[in-house]
Amino acid sequence: MAKTSYLVALGSNRRHGAHGAPAGVLRAAIAAMAAVGIEVERVSAIRTTPALGPAGRGFANAAVLVASRLGPPELLALLKRIERSFGRRAGRRWGPRVLDLDIILWSGGCWAEGALTLPHREFRKRRFVLDPLAEVAPAWRDPLTGATVLQLRHRLARAAPVDRGPARS
Ligand code: ADP
Ligand code: MG
Repeated sequence: MAKTSYLVALGSNRRHGAHGAPAGVLRAAIAAMAAVGIEVERVSAIRTTPALGPAGRGFANAAVLVASRLGPPELLALLKRIERSFGRRAGRRWGPRVLDLDIILWSGGCWAEGALTLPHREFRKRRFVLDPLAEVAPAWRDPLTGATVLQLRHRLARAAPVDRGPARS
């Protein structure tokens, strides 16, 4: 397959024994992506939200623009392998997670086969995805709405100026 561009969102809300706090987990995850041959072309700032109170968890979020010869299901399989190598256990969707790697957009437009949907179903509603995405690919157009990433981010900021999602504002 010819080389394809992807936007991948990264998240972590749990410490890792070797990589430390969530921001360190994301830095290590980006290095792990490069180490398996994914070409990392642009990296956003890593945004962190400190834990609130003793039981709270700190979050880290970032986005990368990458290129690969892999198709969407093959890239997702590789990203899931990296998640597992960081100790993520399957089946605990909303719990604390060492590492979450989601494909948000790809240069091929839409994809809906098997369990994978592109564009990612929820990304238009998530500030913690759109903010870093706007840093690495502001002009990228969402094939479903026709809006650019920057426009989607502005729309969300207007629609929900206070609520930026749980524990991430
Ligand atoms: P979250 O929605 O919090 O990222 P998971 O990482 O557990 O939850 O993902 C649940 C499932 O969503 C994955 O097993 C994957 O097959 C599916 N999925 C569908 N679309 C995507 C996508 N664009 N990127 C990543 N996973 C996706
Ligand atoms: Mg995921």
